[in-house]
Amino acid sequence: MLNPEGTGVRPVRTIDLGSVSVDLLQIGAFRSDAGAIFGPVPRSTWEPLVREEIDAESRLLQSLNTLHVRTPSGALLLETGAIPAGERRESDEIWSVSARDALIASGADPDRLRYVVPSHLHRDHAGGLTGSGGAAAFPRVTIVAPQAEIDAVASASARARAAYDQPLLTSLFADSPPDAFLDRRQLLPEVELRLLGGHTPGSQATIIRGRERTLLFMGDLFMRPWQANPRWVTAFDDAAWVSVDAKSAIFAEAAAKQWLIVQSHELHAPLGRLEVDRDRFRFIAE
Ligand SMILES: [Zn+2]
Repeated sequence: MLNPEGTGVRPVRTIDLGSVSVDLLQIGAFRSDAGAIFGPVPRSTWEPLVREEIDAESRLLQSLNTLHVRTPSGALLLETGAIPAGERRESDEIWSVSARDALIASGADPDRLRYVVPSHLHRDHAGGLTGSGGAAAFPRVTIVAPQAEIDAVASASARARAAYDQPLLTSLFADSPPDAFLDRRQLLPEVELRLLGGHTPGSQATIIRGRERTLLFMGDLFMRPWQANPRWVTAFDDAAWVSVDAKSAIFAEAAAKQWLIVQSHELHAPLGRLEVDRDRFRFIAE
């Protein structure tokens, strides 16, 4: 079983942005091959950075971070984790509860959400969109996704078939079609969505603006602190050069404007901000 000490559901951390608050729900953790996460980076460079974290099979410990965003205009959930609603997993590979159950445990009513916004639809981000059997986990809530991601899920490519749970998502979207957008969408007065692509064709960033601070969440385009270097992309990125350019541009904006950032798979220090560091950036935990 995955080490249960501190790796499972962690206490909810509430981030106050001024009139907007964000509950960070860490709903589980899973093991993932470190070489695949570091993509083009040589092992001799990345290994010293994670020597304490990797297990005998060179796997990193990746948190499943989800965000419950509460604005005066409504609430939304960013990410749904890997586990279907009502289920719980405990194995050597993964320890997690479902996003729906974690929301309820935090005192929220999942049926009162206005939107569910996965950063992209890979299994570890969209797994909680359904319950066991494939029924919608949030039947009264609108799922929002870029058209490019919805098209990727429907793609006949063998790579897409391996990355997405196509039968489940296809049947879910047939019953409750997602609210799709092309490049940018002002979802609520406080919430902007931007298509970035790269990691998947429809990977998106969510920008949440409170009265005092702004928070950026960009899924697996920024999963762990080392990826503050835009060139450090994962082997899972469909179009690495798109990821690098998209990260360079939005990181520059985030650093200049001192945006808070939550990383998608960082367990211990998921919240922080970026500073410019030579031709790259550095993540400063807060
Ligand atoms: Zn992921």
